[in-house]
Amino acid sequence: MGRYSAFAVAREAFRNHKGWTRAWASPEPKRKYDVIIIGAGGHGLATAYYLGKNHGIRNVAILEKGWLGGGNTGRNTTIIRSNYLQDPSAAIYEKARSLYEDLSQDLNYNVMFSPRGVMMLAQTEHEVRGYKRTAHANALQGVTTEYVDPERVKELCPIIETRGPRYPVRGALWQARGGTARHDAVAWGYARKCSEMGMDVIQKCEVTGVRSEGGKVVGVSTSKGDIDCDKLGVVVAGHSGHLADMAGFRLPIESVALQALVSEPIKPCMDVVVMANTVHGYMSQSDKGEMVIGGGADGYNNYTQRGSFHHIEETVRALNETFPIISRLKMLRQWGGIVDMTGDRSPILSKTPLENCFINCGWGTGGFKAIPGSGWGMAELMATGHSPLTEAYTLDRFREGRFIDESVAAGVAH
Ligand SMILES: Cc1cc2nc3c(=O)[nH]c(=O)nc-3n(C[C@H](O)[C@H](O)[C@H](O)COP(=O)(O)OP(=O)(O)OC[C@H]3O[C@@H](n4cnc5c(N)ncnc54)[C@H](O)[C@@H]3O)c2cc1C
Repeated sequence: MGRYSAFAVAREAFRNHKGWTRAWASPEPKRKYDVIIIGAGGHGLATAYYLGKNHGIRNVAILEKGWLGGGNTGRNTTIIRSNYLQDPSAAIYEKARSLYEDLSQDLNYNVMFSPRGVMMLAQTEHEVRGYKRTAHANALQGVTTEYVDPERVKELCPIIETRGPRYPVRGALWQARGGTARHDAVAWGYARKCSEMGMDVIQKCEVTGVRSEGGKVVGVSTSKGDIDCDKLGVVVAGHSGHLADMAGFRLPIESVALQALVSEPIKPCMDVVVMANTVHGYMSQSDKGEMVIGGGADGYNNYTQRGSFHHIEETVRALNETFPIISRLKMLRQWGGIVDMTGDRSPILSKTPLENCFINCGWGTGGFKAIPGSGWGMAELMATGHSPLTEAYTLDRFREGRFIDESVAAGVAH
């Protein structure tokens, strides 16, 4: 627990009965930091960690209005893959995937990375062509994927009904080293390392204003008072529009709820992750035996961090056809998170019109898998002003029409 004794954490956990992440004894903020990161989700924490580890910048505070990983990082379905079409996407997602391979060792914290394989089903002729194209692109990018036929799909995942009725499985894009990881553990592992490096991870500290002088950021106003900084990183996912507004610029971002659910636990029946983009659903089985099921994003902008029955019904109805065995399962719980969607379904990692203020957002429905790579690139951008991983993802691309269009390649981008 870094600078906090195990006893203090246990005592706090006992007092508020809410588990040890909420019990993290947040330090009081200092008056001034070299860098402030807003948002203690995976991307904010990873940015802080690589600022310290790779660039020696450790006078850093990570400010979080709720609790560690309580945003989308702790609400996602944990799919990790790097089989994207566009080169900048393959670069950052593959960097992330390869960092996931030994993240547990690096953080000395078990993030339970499970490279069990991710399969994206082709259930229309359009998808067959699309995924073959992506497999060729991946070969050129050095990302290991393959296009497999329906027989191999059935071999890899026997519970799939490959013959229809509406959407027979015609093949799949298979990434054998894709998989899952424990989402909270990723946030906790990064936070603990940041704390060990002397950084302040401050929970229940909401940023309410961004202060600037002469077009340059000088600090933030928070629910715990004003705090100064030389550089500011805004990493708040679905709340990016609010923060940008505080900093005096606009973002091409829409916020919508994305929902997921888990079933009651059952015996192991599926040891790969399957995404069925045509019917708009995806599924894996957790270590506890629950079927983890996710669908598409809400069709309207909103900030409701919860699930809704009509959406769940839509997702499960669609998946039933491809996975008939789930038809009698009971749902255990459902939830939602607020995701930040850009028009080209690619993220923004960029300088902003406010000097020394940087933004990392727009990961939409698929940013969990990118956390280590995004943190790596964002830290480099903030420390040196440039990173090869982030250079395509500037805000300018929307003005200049330089889109990194993953929206067609991956209708569901998780
Ligand atoms: C249901 C669902 C399923 C998903 N499935 C997948 C998947 O399978 N694979 C995948 O790769 N991705 C998935 N995603 C997307 C992924 O979860 C996100 O892209 C990723 O977690 C974003 O991380 P983040 O650190 O940017 O944001 P977050 O984890 O949301 O962190 C941002 C933090 O900023 C804080 N904050 C906001 N405003 C303020 C403020 N004013 N002051 C201080 N703090 C503030 C928030 O409280 C929050 O903790 C899914 C998302 C959802 C909701």
